[in-house]
Amino acid sequence: MNKTIPATVIDDGAMYQSERKIYPRDVHGRFARLRKLAVWVLLGIFYLIPWLSWGQRQAVLFDLPARKFYIFGLNFWPQDFFFLALLLIMAGLSLFFFTALAGRLWCGYACPQTVWTEVFLDMERWTEGDRHRRMKLDAGPWNREKILRKGGKHLLWLAFAVWTGFTFVGFFSPIRELGLRLLSVDLGGWESFWIGFYSLATWGNAGFLREQVCKYMCPYARFQSAMFDRNTLIIAYDERRGEPRGARKRGAREAATRDPGTATTQGDAREAGTTGPGTRVAALGDCIDCTICVQVCPTGIDIRNGLQYECIACGACIDACDAVMDKMEYPRGLIRYTTQNALDGKRSQVVRPRVIVYGLLLTAIFAGWFWGVGHRSALIVDVLRDRNALYRVAADGSIENAYTLKLINKTPLAQRYRVAVVDEHDNAIDGLAIVGGDNEIDVAGEQVLSLSLTLAARPDIAHGRRNVRFVISDSRDPDLRVQQDSRFFGPLP
Ligand code: SF4
Ligand code: SF4
Repeated sequence: MNKTIPATVIDDGAMYQSERKIYPRDVHGRFARLRKLAVWVLLGIFYLIPWLSWGQRQAVLFDLPARKFYIFGLNFWPQDFFFLALLLIMAGLSLFFFTALAGRLWCGYACPQTVWTEVFLDMERWTEGDRHRRMKLDAGPWNREKILRKGGKHLLWLAFAVWTGFTFVGFFSPIRELGLRLLSVDLGGWESFWIGFYSLATWGNAGFLREQVCKYMCPYARFQSAMFDRNTLIIAYDERRGEPRGARKRGAREAATRDPGTATTQGDAREAGTTGPGTRVAALGDCIDCTICVQVCPTGIDIRNGLQYECIACGACIDACDAVMDKMEYPRGLIRYTTQNALDGKRSQVVRPRVIVYGLLLTAIFAGWFWGVGHRSALIVDVLRDRNALYRVAADGSIENAYTLKLINKTPLAQRYRVAVVDEHDNAIDGLAIVGGDNEIDVAGEQVLSLSLTLAARPDIAHGRRNVRFVISDSRDPDLRVQQDSRFFGPLP
């Protein structure tokens, strides 16, 4: 008989379904250690990265006012938006790939909601104790101890949340200067707003909303089942082994297994209706119905009711049940990572068409991304014709066209560029030249330079329209060459 207390309290007829507070019990084991490791590594990366430097600059900085992103020596300009879009596509595909392969790995170990909730839960345990003490404290009156414990918890939460908000903003505004301004209470309006916003979001999501974010706000929880099939890795309760559940004395199954006269396996014992030599008792599976797997569940579900979308695959129930199985001297794995096929006694197939398709797509886009980023031009050139006049006739009779050259030096170093004008076959045009003759331009590091430039043509070659090509090359690096086609107009013949 399932003694699980329902996770929700439903008020019939009400528009709002109030949630029963969940007090996850602390759990130890392989997956708890793995989760802690993931928390340390991921939070370590998040809190450390803004403090790293790369050259003269913060290693990872999303400079929104300048519309430039710096990621470990790579600069992304608005013109590189395509690569950022590809990054998002890769992130989405990775989620599909790993979900098809290993289920909700992301939810259980890497999702920010899981990671921050884990830290907030630890702080709650330090200040208020484990599940039963927390339940008792909440049910009890507001006395000195309750005020101190709850106050201590909220102070810890708040400090951590503010640090998180500050770190988050530090990805967008140089964190060292931000820190100095924070200490001297000299933050700008937007910085203050976003630090406050992310602090509150962290505090609210990890401290209060917790599993409700996964259950009601996260779209991934809703559509991830579309990526599941019978070979996807899931955390499941082995119903065939566990049922019928029920309390029993420690070692009862051992007795059934050892009895040579009646049964040799638990299944046999169940069929025979015996669990011990000469003792006729109700046949039971391995689940002793202790509900510890429910008590440790951060989303408050009972995994024994089957696969549910609320399950974030954290593995806490595996650790809890393994500990119970150890105590009962039963084999571990009543709740385990498995597949639907394996549960049904069929062979599981890890490599299957959808995994191959996701994997190939991901590999191709990854390779394309790295190739594209590695081969980006360090110079962007845009040529605009003066639209006010098609041409003008100079005092010496030559025909002139005006242009604006926009040069973007994406490197952090000053560069000298050479500008040349040729025809569409890259041949020099006899009688057409840049007015002034000085075709070398200095552009400072990361500068966007607009340059007015005039082309002049001898009257005898300037009839009607002709194609011209602007070629801009780095005077020190001949491999860096960018060309832009444009047109030159003269009087009709
Ligand atoms: S922890 Fe294991 S034995 Fe206890 S109720 Fe859950 S499945 Fe059954
Ligand atoms: S059912 Fe188990 S794996 Fe799923 S969320 Fe609950 S404890 Fe985690």
